Amino acid sequence: MPRTALYPGSFDPVSYGHLDLIKRATKIYDKVIVAVANNLHKKLLFSSEERVDMLREALRDFDRVDVVAFDGLVVDFARKNQIKVLLRGLRMVSDFEYEFRLALTNRRMADDIETVFLMPSEQFSFLSSTLLKELATMGADITAFVPPCVEKRLRERLRQ
Ligand code: ADP
Repeated sequence: MPRTALYPGSFDPVSYGHLDLIKRATKIYDKVIVAVANNLHKKLLFSSEERVDMLREALRDFDRVDVVAFDGLVVDFARKNQIKVLLRGLRMVSDFEYEFRLALTNRRMADDIETVFLMPSEQFSFLSSTLLKELATMGADITAFVPPCVEKRLRERLRQ
């Protein structure tokens, strides 16, 4: 059985921080599935199709990584695809409480699925999609934080 990890998130949009985590995960797992959530409670800048497109483009050179969109509970999606590992990123202590609560909630719903946390390189540990969008709105140079295809889409979207 290949070892597969599911990396769920909003990815609105994907940043070098997410990509750093995915790269690290491919060293541990045979396959990584990046699952783009149709988060109904979050105000998102990009549609799920756009978020998937940006991830696919950014991950073009990663042959053991798939990108899919999903609705509903992460644990349901994981079960349907027989995946036993959920991957999440821990950037700073400030992530801990939310991630801890999420992991325990998922465990309560699916005790057979484990959440694994990875830390990104410290150069991305302050980076969030929210911060990125704020910087881009104010015209900051974000080329150090996102791949060129994402930068282009952000600029286009924020110009409208
Ligand atoms: P969500 O809405 O599920 O939090 P995000 O796309 O914001 O979706 O994040 C998905 C996962 O990626 C989370 O576990 C988050 O901590 C992690 N993550 C977000 N930004 C970074 C980053 N810069 N470095 C590493 N992990 C990150």
